[in-house]
Amino acid sequence: MSQPLIVPGFVNAHVHPDKTSFGSAWLHRKPAHSLKDLISNDLETQLGYTDSVETRMGTLVSNAIASGVTAMRAHVDFGPQIGLKNIHGAAAVKDKYKDLIDLQIVAFPQFGLLSNPGAVDLLEAALSEGAELVGGIDPEGLEHDLHGHLDVVFGLAEKYGRRADIHVHDTGEVGYREIQEIARRTQALGMNGQVTIGHAFALADAPSAELERTLDAVAEAGIWIATCALGADPVPDLELMAKHGVNIVLGTDGVRDAWSPFGTASMMDRAHLLAYRTNAITDEQLENCLDIATVQGARMMGIDRVLNFDPADPRDAVYFEAQNRAQLVVDRPVASKVVRGGVQIAADGRLS
Ligand SMILES: [Zn+2]
Repeated sequence: MSQPLIVPGFVNAHVHPDKTSFGSAWLHRKPAHSLKDLISNDLETQLGYTDSVETRMGTLVSNAIASGVTAMRAHVDFGPQIGLKNIHGAAAVKDKYKDLIDLQIVAFPQFGLLSNPGAVDLLEAALSEGAELVGGIDPEGLEHDLHGHLDVVFGLAEKYGRRADIHVHDTGEVGYREIQEIARRTQALGMNGQVTIGHAFALADAPSAELERTLDAVAEAGIWIATCALGADPVPDLELMAKHGVNIVLGTDGVRDAWSPFGTASMMDRAHLLAYRTNAITDEQLENCLDIATVQGARMMGIDRVLNFDPADPRDAVYFEAQNRAQLVVDRPVASKVVRGGVQIAADGRLS
C-alpha cells in the first residue's frame, strides 16, 4: 500500500452548531427573501426542535472529530427568546468532548443586541456561563447603531479580557464603515490579533479605493476574516487578501439548519468548496485552501497541536489515502485515521 498522506488537524473557524438539525429529523425549510426572514425562520425552527442542543450539536461535533476536525469556534445563540440554554448546551458538549476537540464558544446575538431588550444583560451573563468570546452582528445594517453596538461588544471584551468575533454581512459603504470602525477600536484597545470578522461580504465588493483602505485597516489591526464559501454568497479574492496582508480563516457557518439544507461536519469538504469558489487551478492555490482550513484557523484560535504539526512525529494528525495535498482538496477522501496526542481517536470516518 502507498504511504498515507499526513496533514495537521482541520479547524472549523466559524460554525453554528447549536442551530443544526444534523442527525435529527429532516427539516422542511421555508423560503426566505431577506436576512430578517432567515433569522425569523431560524428562531421558529429552534423553538420547534424536539432534540436538545446537546444531542444535535453533539452529533455534529462527533462527526466533525471523525472527519479530522481538531478545533471549532462555535457561534452560539442567546437572547430573551431562548435564554442561555444554547450556551449551556454548547458548554456541556465542549466538556463532553474536551479530550477530542478544542471548542471555543462565542456568545452570538443572532436575534439582536440593542434591538432586542434584555440581550445585553444576557450577553454579559453568557460570558460567565460557558461563552469565552463576545459576539456581534451587523452593528449598522441590522442594529442601526454602529457605535452603540460596538460600545457593548468592545466594552465587554475589555471588561472581561475576552476576544471578539463579529458577524458583518453588510456590503458597500455600510460594510466598509462597520469594518473600519471595528479595526479602529481593535487598534485603540490594543486588541490586535484578537478580533475576527465573520463573512465580511464587503471585502468581496468590486475593486475601489475604499475597499483598499478597508483591507489595509483590517491588516493593520490584525483582524481575522472568517469566510465560509457559502452558496452564492461573496467570497473574498484570496490573492487580493494576501497582497494586503489580510488573514483568512475558514468555517462552515450553519450546517443543515433553518438557513440551509447543505453542509457537513467536514472541513475537508469546506476546503474543497473554498478552492472551487475561488477558481483554484494550481497545486499552490489548492494547497493554500488546505492551509486556510488547518493552520490559519489554528493561528486564529491558538491551537498549538496544529501549529506544531510534525509529519515525522505525527502526534496530532489526520491520515488520508491521497497522492498529495492538492489532490486531497479535490478528491476529499474520508480520513483513514485521526490521531490526537499520540492516541488514535477515529478511523474511516468513525470515532474509535
Ligand atoms: Zn455565521
